[in-house]
Amino acid sequence: MMTVRIAVALGLLGRLTTAAHAEDASCRAELAARKVAFKPASRPGIVDGVEVTGALGGVAFTSEDQPLVIDCSLAVSLDEAGRYLLALGLDQAGFVSAYSRRNVRNTDRPSKHSYGLAIDVSSFRGRELGALRVDGDFEQGLGGDVDCIGKPATQGGAVLKILQCQLVRSGLFHLVLTPDYDDAHHDHFHLEVKPWRERSTLRAAQPAIH
Ligand SMILES: [Zn+2]
Repeated sequence: MMTVRIAVALGLLGRLTTAAHAEDASCRAELAARKVAFKPASRPGIVDGVEVTGALGGVAFTSEDQPLVIDCSLAVSLDEAGRYLLALGLDQAGFVSAYSRRNVRNTDRPSKHSYGLAIDVSSFRGRELGALRVDGDFEQGLGGDVDCIGKPATQGGAVLKILQCQLVRSGLFHLVLTPDYDDAHHDHFHLEVKPWRERSTLRAAQPAIH
């Protein structure tokens, strides 16, 4: 029942809100206006590097082995996307990779991680839900173009699938890859944004679903 209701809501509420992005507005000014805690972080390949030291959109992003160093443009999208995680009861996200100088697997093309424009999130956590792992809780092969969510069999699977669908439809990310994409993504969501100057919107196009 819950799945059906959510699928209908996603379809009905697919309105697009576009926020014109002023050419001269800097990304860091936007990040500061959102009250995100950060400090400048200069790294080879990143146009506008920041080290995020606080929550993004109410969600704490943590890693076992690295600070959250990313391009400011990605920080803005993650901050805006926090509403989707919070609405699903998730307030922590664990990432395994953010800024990383490397090529796309089996190519000589630099990954967007090389520019700080992508993050690999492997787990989420909420007070009531506990820990959800992409590798284990994400149910592959669900949904389609019309009904994005499909019929997850578990609560964890439903939460991760709803989150994926909302992130895809939010317009905040140029690319959202999941275990459905290929085996290299079996254990994380790859979230990728456009550079600041190429962005068309800063606002989430989808309302959160509670
Ligand atoms: Zn990635």
